[in-house]
Amino acid sequence: MGSEVRSLYCPPKTFKYARDKYIIQSMKIENTIIIGSGPAGLTAAIYLSRDGLNPLILEEAPLSGQLTTTPLIENFPGFTDGINGLDLVANIRTQAEKFEARFVSEKVISVDFSQTPLKIFTSSNHYQTKTVLIASGASPKKLNIKGEETYWQKGISICATCDGALPIFRNKTISVVGGGDSAVEEALHLCQFAKQVNLIIRRDVLRATKILQNRALANPKINLIKNSVIIEALGNNKLLTHIKIKNTLDNTEQIIESNGLFYAIGHDPNTNFLAESLPLTKEGYLVTIPSSQATVIPGVFAA
Ligand code: NAP
Repeated sequence: MGSEVRSLYCPPKTFKYARDKYIIQSMKIENTIIIGSGPAGLTAAIYLSRDGLNPLILEEAPLSGQLTTTPLIENFPGFTDGINGLDLVANIRTQAEKFEARFVSEKVISVDFSQTPLKIFTSSNHYQTKTVLIASGASPKKLNIKGEETYWQKGISICATCDGALPIFRNKTISVVGGGDSAVEEALHLCQFAKQVNLIIRRDVLRATKILQNRALANPKINLIKNSVIIEALGNNKLLTHIKIKNTLDNTEQIIESNGLFYAIGHDPNTNFLAESLPLTKEGYLVTIPSSQATVIPGVFAA
């Protein structure tokens, strides 16, 4: 490893080289760093910039995150005809940039909040700051069923907007698992391309908002399969062709045709990089002081 590269690397809590310690101590101390550039991080960036705090936003990649994969947002105030998720995020970002928020595309690997200034370590750099806002969002959950690895992106997907129009799904029978707003929206979106969309739910009721439920139930292409869980993805080794489902009431199993399987079963918070720096719930969500965005560490906030 060359000396230039080594000087950038610095493990979170110990400094192997005296020079590294000197470099981190002599670094600029930011007013505030926002981790994540989804709607929460970008909105905070607008407000902090307007308050003259010159925030730095660390993001894994520009225009990424959950909302960018949503085809149509109908319930965000001010857009009478709805707005595409990617457009909405791009607009909020442009607004933040207008107020001179700064963006750096570096994945945050770890943090050291044991003393001030607070320290943040990315894949290629490290930063010091007086305050931090954690707005790192969440990642879609997987089912972890047999065959999932084999048919991942070969029929199994977590994003109907990104993959729904692919030729492998056109005029085919495909399935969506989950009964929340995301699942119903994905199923409705997929109806544009598929012959039939099975919406598979583990209970006998949908969790989604009533207006979405009504649309799904009225759509002749959507086949609601209740009280069922998916236990295996099956295919010809190249592409998914079928799924095995189990009825949760009588435990009977059935193999049904399905050339696609879209997951919409909720999300896991992206908080792994925080390790043991902050208290998390058992699901991995940040614990904040009741009725506030503050965490137990002064200067560290969560959105
Ligand atoms: P969600 O509301 O948590 O729904 C997850 C769904 O997946 C539930 O129906 C759940 O079943 C099911 N599920 C979870 N684990 C499962 C498993 N292992 N096997 C089978 N099914 C499983 O997640 P979401 O739909 O992504 O929504 C997240 C939040 O975003 C919600 O607050 C939602 O309202 C919001 N959202 C809003 C919009 C909108 O306003 N247009 C759009 C998308 C999302 P059970 O119901 O049986 O628990």
